[in-house]
Amino acid sequence: MRTVTTPKAHNSGSLARIIDGRALAGALRQETSERVKQLASCGQSVRLDAVLACGPQSAAGVYAENQGVACREIGIEYKLHTLPENAGFDEIAGQVLLLNKDEDVSAVMVHMPLPAGVDPYKIYQLIDPEKDVEGVNPSNIGNVVYGRSTLAPCTALAALAMIETTGVELRGKKCVVVGASNIVGKPIAALLMKYEATVVSCNKFTKDLASETRTADVLVCAAGVPGLITRDMVRAGAVVIDVGTTRVTDEAGETKTVGDVDFDAVRRVAGWISPVPGGVGPMTVAMLLRNVVDAASGR
Ligand code: NAD
Repeated sequence: MRTVTTPKAHNSGSLARIIDGRALAGALRQETSERVKQLASCGQSVRLDAVLACGPQSAAGVYAENQGVACREIGIEYKLHTLPENAGFDEIAGQVLLLNKDEDVSAVMVHMPLPAGVDPYKIYQLIDPEKDVEGVNPSNIGNVVYGRSTLAPCTALAALAMIETTGVELRGKKCVVVGASNIVGKPIAALLMKYEATVVSCNKFTKDLASETRTADVLVCAAGVPGLITRDMVRAGAVVIDVGTTRVTDEAGETKTVGDVDFDAVRRVAGWISPVPGGVGPMTVAMLLRNVVDAASGR
């Protein structure tokens, strides 16, 4: 358990400190790259195989291509298995089972979304937990709840690492997580509980969201609703982590990615804040790479 300082009360008029996801991700990638080199020097290759069944032109297809670049940059071999967009459960499951068995493959992941009618949970269940670098297999999620060292969901790991960088002692702190999906919001809440924080999980049915968020020493927003968190919803000095990423087109017709937090306004009251873009996104990619190396080295 880290024992460090609580952020000082916010001076009115000053701006929150920025949690720079790009810089943190750069440092983590460097560290991971060194580990890849060490494994290579012992004759062990590191390889991530990903399955895509929603078309190479889809957002996931573009993400998969970028992922390949990120892997190769640090010496991880990357292989993308592109299945037809109308692939059924048996075809996707068969591909995953083959990769589970292949000893040359260190890590396996399946890009979302899956074709209509294929239940992601049933695919997640099939990924070998030791190769499950997105931490989506129920046994890995279960280990997160148990507080055990495990391959945990990358975005949750990213959010926690960003909180840790502020030096806030989490034990006993009030943490509010807005968004409760299985792969993002819930694992973030579970990881915060591991640090013995007092955790409140909110969702779209939460009554009077502001009355919850205003009590937060640490506020994590993962709803996917641009502008959901306004200045009046944030406690002075709070750590604010914005996980949300939504593509929007502004009045000038330009498309950009925005978070859930009204950054410019909230920055005037928070103690720390992560931006979008340049926050949780790059750290999530870096955490995936770290998980790949953890899987390859049996950590
Ligand atoms: P999801 O749609 O599966 O879940 C959204 C959650 O937010 C649900 O629990 C829902 O009840 C809650 N919610 C929605 N509207 C709300 C409201 N008005 N008030 C309170 N709660 C509300 O989405 P997800 O997969 O969990 O992703 C959430 C966001 O995080 C999305 O914007 C997604 O793009 C982003 N995301 C970012 C990264 C990253 O690397 N930065 C990774 C994964 C997801």
